[in-house]
This record gives sequence, C-alpha cells and structure tokens, in this order.
Amino acid sequence: MTVDLPLVARGKVREIYDAGPEQLLLVASDRISAYDWVLPTPIPDKGKVLTQLSVWWFEQLAPVLASFGASHHLVSAADVPASVAGRAMLVRRLEMQPVECVARGYLSGGGTKEYERTGSIRDVALPAGLVEGSQLPEPVFTPSTKAEIGEHDEPIDFPRVVQLVGAERAEQLRELTLALYRRGAEVAREAGIVLADTKFEFGVAPDGGLVLGDEVLTPDSSRFWPADTWSPGSVQPSYDKQFVRDWLTSSGWDRVSEPPELPDDVVAATRERYVTAYEQLTGRRFA
Ligand code: ATP
Ligand code: MG
Repeated sequence: MTVDLPLVARGKVREIYDAGPEQLLLVASDRISAYDWVLPTPIPDKGKVLTQLSVWWFEQLAPVLASFGASHHLVSAADVPASVAGRAMLVRRLEMQPVECVARGYLSGGGTKEYERTGSIRDVALPAGLVEGSQLPEPVFTPSTKAEIGEHDEPIDFPRVVQLVGAERAEQLRELTLALYRRGAEVAREAGIVLADTKFEFGVAPDGGLVLGDEVLTPDSSRFWPADTWSPGSVQPSYDKQFVRDWLTSSGWDRVSEPPELPDDVVAATRERYVTAYEQLTGRRFA
C-alpha cells in the first residue's frame, strides 16, 4: 500500500498525503482502534468499506449541505493511485475546525453515563426515565474538542464551542450537524438501521466556506443498530466496534498494556458487520 506522495500525517486509521497545495489524499487502512488503542490485527477490507460508505453518504447529504450554503470535501474517489484504489479519497485541503460535531438521537454509551449523573447531556436538559437505547425527544448536539493525533477528545458544552470558533460559526455548526444527523437517520431508517449517534468534522475552505470533511456516517464514526431488534433498556446489538470491544473486555485485557491479537473468528465476524452495514445502507453489494 505505497503511495508516491509526501506523508502529511498518520492517524489511528488513516494516512494523509500531500496531493498539491489545495488537495490531500486520505487513505483508510484496515487498522481498527478501540479504547484509544490501535489493535495489532487488521480487519480485511475495513478501509474500503469506510471509504466507499463515506463517498456514498457525501452524495446523499449534498442537498442538505447546499441548503446551508456549505459543501463536502470529496473531489474524487476514482482519480487516486492504483495501489490504494477503493480505499482512498482525493479531498479539498481544509483548515479543520477544533470541534468534533457529535449528534445524538438516542441515549447510549457516554451519553447514558452523563444523563444518569446529571439528568442532561451537556447543557441540554432531558426528561426523566430515559434508559440506555432510548430515543431522545429531539436530537442533541454534544460536541467534543478535536484532540491532536494521539490525545483524548473531551466533551464540551455549547458556550465553549462559541469561545473556540465564535458565535456565528458555532450556531452554524450546531444547526448543520443536527440537519445532517436528521437526514442521515431518515435514510438509515428506510434501510432498517437506527442511527443512534454520529460525529462529523468540518473545515473551512480557502474561500471561507464551511465544508464537511473526514469520513461520514460510517461504523467508525457512528452507532448503527438493527432497527428490528431495537429495544431500550440494555446495550443494543450494533454494526460498529461494540463487538470487538466486548471481545476485548471478555479476553481479560487490562486496557493499559498492549492489546491482544484478535482471533480469526472475531476478525471474520467484525468484517462481516462492516460489510453488512455498507450493503444494507447503500443497497449495493460490496465488491
Ligand atoms: P486518531 O484516530 O489518530 O486520534 P483521527 O481520527 O483524527 O486521529 P484519522 O481518522 O486516522 O485520524 O485521520 C483523519 C484526519 O484527517 C483527522 O485528523 C481529520 O480531522 C483530518 N481531515 C479529514 N478531512 C480533512 C481535510 N479535508 N483537510 C484536512 N484534514 C482533514
Ligand atoms: Mg478519524
């Protein structure tokens, strides 16, 4: 998987290459991360699934973006080096906003913990009686800081977003995040999938325009649940990494030392989940 371009950065999952003054090449590897560790065992085809799903979503979401005077960063998924075909996107180089834009329509994970402690998520008060898996009355914007590569993201409230990017941009990020979540959830629901929550990353183009970047609505950035088994009150079965996290927990790994290799059956089942999410959402066969 060699690319003859200067490497700009290596994230947990992606390699980012310099593709000229205005463009980057984002290459999604098959690496999988959990609990802030990159696991030693790759998941075959995962990078291709993430890239192809993102490309599909950019198309679905373009009208929502346009209605906000915004756009997305994808230039081409075809015009990329042959060695990374299928897993790479040529994108517009952006100045990324220092905020991870999370939208939640359902209570889960860290959101549940926060709600159980405070009755709200960030500065959004919620009704009593919600449980893990409950649908929220309205989707909520629950941003976090965008940490430097290797650092932890921290939950922040809306006033902090205003401090970071200014009132007007903050408002725009919140409204656009919620509109994209709503549309994404609607499309997913038609495909029999609950989009519980997701994270978007936005950047600013040289002309000052707001642009949706990174990956979008993938199993790595979102919680997807099969709609037909959705039943609030316990952890929902999912298409995302929960399966791998559960296996890691049951393996006795302490989350402090190097993570263990995944057994073949866990690799195969995880690959299957990523592929199924792609096929069910897009209605296309993963080739
Ligand atoms: P890590 O997983 O290592 O904590 P990450 O999730 O940020 O970091 P990756 O997803 O592996 O890393 O790499 C993608 C990186 O590229 C992210 O930092 C993202 O903000 C950045 N990025 C995405 N799209 C663009 C763009 N159009 N212009 C500039 N940077 C971008
Ligand atoms: Mg990322």
